[in-house]
Amino acid sequence: MSTSIGQDIKSQTVENTSAQTKKRVFSGIQPTGNIHLGNYLGAIRNWVNEQDRYENIFCIVDLHAITLPIDPKELHMNIRKLAAIYLACGLDPQHCKLFVQSHVHQHAELTWILNCFTPMGWLNRMTQFKTKAGSNLDTVSTGLYDYPVLMACDILLYQSHYVPVGDDQRQHVELTRDIAQRFNGLYKEQVFTLPEAHISTVGARIMSLEDPTKKMSKSDPNPSAYITLLDDPKTIKKKIGRATTDSERLVKFDPQRPGITNLLNIYQTITGQSKEEIEATFEGKGYGDFKAALTEQLVATLEPIQKRYNEIISDIPALEDTLKKGAENVLPLAESTLQHAKQVIGLG
Ligand code: ATP
Ligand code: MG
Repeated sequence: MSTSIGQDIKSQTVENTSAQTKKRVFSGIQPTGNIHLGNYLGAIRNWVNEQDRYENIFCIVDLHAITLPIDPKELHMNIRKLAAIYLACGLDPQHCKLFVQSHVHQHAELTWILNCFTPMGWLNRMTQFKTKAGSNLDTVSTGLYDYPVLMACDILLYQSHYVPVGDDQRQHVELTRDIAQRFNGLYKEQVFTLPEAHISTVGARIMSLEDPTKKMSKSDPNPSAYITLLDDPKTIKKKIGRATTDSERLVKFDPQRPGITNLLNIYQTITGQSKEEIEATFEGKGYGDFKAALTEQLVATLEPIQKRYNEIISDIPALEDTLKKGAENVLPLAESTLQHAKQVIGLG
């Protein structure tokens, strides 16, 4: 039934899967603003810690970044800054393919195809769209609504096994599985690998410092709501000092007190200590002592990252070269998956 081109491509995909000894991981971050503690603790730090265990593909998802209005110069620079953050946090191009989503056109092409296999009812259930669109349903872009399908394609193009993300992306990875399962089932062929979300037990949902009932987000208009990876010690001290807590002044994990619990979660994720150990350390002490200790931990964590970042960002041509090589490396797999999908549908 297939053309010889289709058969070649299919056998490439199979070979690619069988020759693979390590499971493949895919994840990405939008170059929409300042990378914050939530992005680091919920995503990047886990990628770095596990990079030897897996075959890694990490993307700068710039096509996602245009789902909401963004200044062209800012986007251009954000892409490079995010690449420098990836490297400064410890991603090693020897172990990871790092690339920019728009450099690999297959992401956009597969998105059109899978749009045609995704019922609108499934997208209507996506909570992130509702949060981001708010009351602007008539004016937000179609791209914002379609964001989860683009994300599904990012993952599926690379036959990814695992998707290490923060808790807010759980629903999108589940949707990715549903789309893949539907497509494979319809054509009775294993075109896409079904991915699993990898969400860590600590640090997967860091909350806003201003409103601890909302997640920390790059797109939050209030910079006091987040700590960026590039904040200097004075700014960190100020933001932690102002972070919302409560009037009880008891340094204990308590879901009824989301402000102090969020700060304790950050402390726990950074230090690796247990809840009991932390509560014992701060027994009889007030929020002031705890906030000072948290500030110290944050500064010690971020300082080496910032030092490396400043070195890396000073050589943009080298960064661009790394990203170009990354795109060249991932392109054959993206193309083989796309061609396989087109072939089973009967396109072309
Ligand atoms: P935006 O507001 O532009 O959506 P964002 O802060 O949500 O930005 P993303 O680029 O959407 O960041 O997400 C990048 C990664 O960081 C994803 O894996 C996401 O799950 C993770 N992440 C984002 N925010 C948090 C958070 N508050 N806590 C833990 N992980 C997070
Ligand atoms: Mg987000």
